[in-house]
Amino acid sequence: MKQYRVIIIGGGASGMFAATLLGKTLGGGVAVVERNDRVGKKLLATGNGQGNIGNRDFSLSHYRGEETLLSAVFSQAPQQKNLAHLQALGVLSSFDERGRIYPLSRQASSALELIRRAYLNSGVEEIVNAEVTAVKPSGKGFAVHTKAGDFFAEKVVFAAGGKAGNGFGTDGSAFALVRAIGHSVTPLSPSLVALKADTAYLKNLKGVRMEAALSYRCGKTQLVERGDVLFTDNGVSGDSAFRLSARIPQAFPLSCTIEFLPDIEKDALIALLTEKASAQTFTALELLVSVVHKQLAKNILRALKVAENAPATPAVAKKCAELIKNFPLTVTGTAGFGGAQVTKGGVPASEVTLNLESKLQKGLYLCGEALDVDGDCGGYNLQWAFASATVAAEEVLKSLGV
Ligand SMILES: Cc1cc2nc3c(=O)[nH]c(=O)nc-3n(C[C@H](O)[C@H](O)[C@H](O)COP(=O)(O)OP(=O)(O)OC[C@H]3O[C@@H](n4cnc5c(N)ncnc54)[C@H](O)[C@@H]3O)c2cc1C
Repeated sequence: MKQYRVIIIGGGASGMFAATLLGKTLGGGVAVVERNDRVGKKLLATGNGQGNIGNRDFSLSHYRGEETLLSAVFSQAPQQKNLAHLQALGVLSSFDERGRIYPLSRQASSALELIRRAYLNSGVEEIVNAEVTAVKPSGKGFAVHTKAGDFFAEKVVFAAGGKAGNGFGTDGSAFALVRAIGHSVTPLSPSLVALKADTAYLKNLKGVRMEAALSYRCGKTQLVERGDVLFTDNGVSGDSAFRLSARIPQAFPLSCTIEFLPDIEKDALIALLTEKASAQTFTALELLVSVVHKQLAKNILRALKVAENAPATPAVAKKCAELIKNFPLTVTGTAGFGGAQVTKGGVPASEVTLNLESKLQKGLYLCGEALDVDGDCGGYNLQWAFASATVAAEEVLKSLGV
């Protein structure tokens, strides 16, 4: 059985980042074990291939997870530290007007190339097509059984991700490995995912993208997510749908609303439309043309049961304005794990130390999406992957006495 000092399970964002840090200090004796035929498949797809690796607007409010753990991890591995490490690997970055950090090249592949270069040059091995099937405490370490053979490691870093984006190798099956050691996994649900909705009055908008605000009233709190809304075959996608998906309860159907024209107050819109309706003889459809997308205008009239060629009276103008600002949307579900960017749920914070060592099994460390932490859209999940990988890797080195 080949022996390693550290085996990292999962060649994703967090596993590879940990490999760069472990490799730098340990050189050889470290292996990244990946079930796919190559590492970093998901990283390549991030940010639509551009690799949104972080966000300048950092605060814990962008994360859902146990606050003590989040704050411990980000204080040990703040964003600047992780960006500086990436820069030392050769990954130069910049940010856009929304604070989203990308490699200057705007290619996720460039980050992957330089991260791999760093750990391979330091002597870290990659073992691919090697799904880990069991991790068993054995002697002063672990027997790691994989489909490509069995290995021994003094320490194991569990970086096998969650259940989102199963096309990239993460189908949630890896949780069985830590469950077998005694860990629990909180309920899993897809997050940063398109929403399925009753689209009776929206279907013909498929493919149309517009600025709008999606809302859901959650008890006393009104959740509002404003941004891009992309209408799909069976619901809504885009930034604002993704962000809302992270915050709504997973109990469908949910009564949500879309606010079209979010820059114009309702009263101002009523005044605008009433003025247009009074100025000359428009039909109801002509009243809305130039105000909203023409298909949406037709849908609004259909929903209000107003004929397109009916006269545009001030009363029609008011009803239209009210619906534009508060269009009901019954959300019936999400596009599921396959279409999701991140997993809500995972191994709970209560089962790891603030340095990410398992409280149930010494020598086992967990990082990335496998933990019960999920972030907002905009670079926050890779930021968590890198920060948690740093903390886990530093703790591994400490426990090895190097
Ligand atoms: C399409 C898409 C776009 C995204 N865009 C962004 C973005 O722009 N910015 C952002 O911050 N976040 C983005 N995310 C989220 C982000 O990519 C993840 O949160 C992050 O990659 C999680 O890192 P991780 O290392 O924990 O897990 P992953 O990157 O998912 O890596 C886990 C690895 O473990 C491997 N694995 C699983 N089980 C086993 C096993 N039994 N044996 C061996 N290997 C195993 C998997 O094949 C995988 O390679 C996106 C996600 C998706 C799906």
